[in-house]
Amino acid sequence: MSYTGARPTDVADPDPRFPFPHRPTPPRCQAEPILFDFANGDRSEDRQATEKRLEKARRACSDCPIVRDCLRWALVNKPLTKTGVFAATTPSQRTILRKRLADRLGPDWIDVLARQDQTRREQAAAARHTPPTVDQARILRLDREVNGPMPLHRLVTPEQQERNRTRLLAGLTAA
Ligand code: SF4
Repeated sequence: MSYTGARPTDVADPDPRFPFPHRPTPPRCQAEPILFDFANGDRSEDRQATEKRLEKARRACSDCPIVRDCLRWALVNKPLTKTGVFAATTPSQRTILRKRLADRLGPDWIDVLARQDQTRREQAAAARHTPPTVDQARILRLDREVNGPMPLHRLVTPEQQERNRTRLLAGLTAA
């Protein structure tokens, strides 16, 4: 089973610049949504019961591997997160965090975050396409001379990884 979407909402579309973080299995808030169903001033249960439920939700979030990106998503998508616990925060706590972001980054803080993300993505892509250093190029050339062209595999099995490692070591030895 794979979970790729945000928690179900029917209020508005999420900001496409900030996709909900992916995780292979549904987060606890999907499996047990009632725990996270919290609104400020909720009077449907006594205060103690609400606090207990909130504490459970917070603990679940603190164990969630996508908590950091979930918080970002919740802060950016205010119309979708007016109620409920997201990333261990209540609606009023998110309001405070949004204000802090606006103080720090300006009133267009969402656009600023989106631009920062874009810059990071471009830098990562550029790093992936950085040409090899002279030494790396020499090793690759020698590897080709010693071992011939390396076949391209879409999915590399552990055996293929081992073979590739051996080939590279052979190239290094030859260098
Ligand atoms: S951090 Fe909490 S609210 Fe966010 S996905 Fe995980 S369990 Fe759900």
